Amino acid sequence: MAGEMIKVLQRCGECNELLGEFEVKKENMMLRSQASIWCANCNSEVTEIRDIDGRLESLAEEQNTYPISSPSGAATSKNSNDLN
Ligand SMILES: [Zn+2]
Repeated sequence: MAGEMIKVLQRCGECNELLGEFEVKKENMMLRSQASIWCANCNSEVTEIRDIDGRLESLAEEQNTYPISSPSGAATSKNSNDLN
C-alpha cells in the first residue's frame, strides 16, 4: 500500500487559476497548506490552494448533478465515468 502517488494541484487562492502541480506520496499529502505562491493572473503572491487531481471535484460534481428524481429513469445506473 505504501508508495502510492497522487497528483496534487496548486491553485491560486484568489482567482482559482491552476498554477502548478506535483506528485506526492499519499501518506505525505498535505492539502492544508499555508504556503504562498506567485500568481501571474493576480500579479501578486497569494495563498495556494491544494487539490487532489480530479477526484474530490468529480465526487462533489457527481453529487451535485446526480438526478435525484429522473422522470425517465434512464440515468439510474449512471454514477461514474461521466466527467466532462
Ligand atoms: Zn490568482
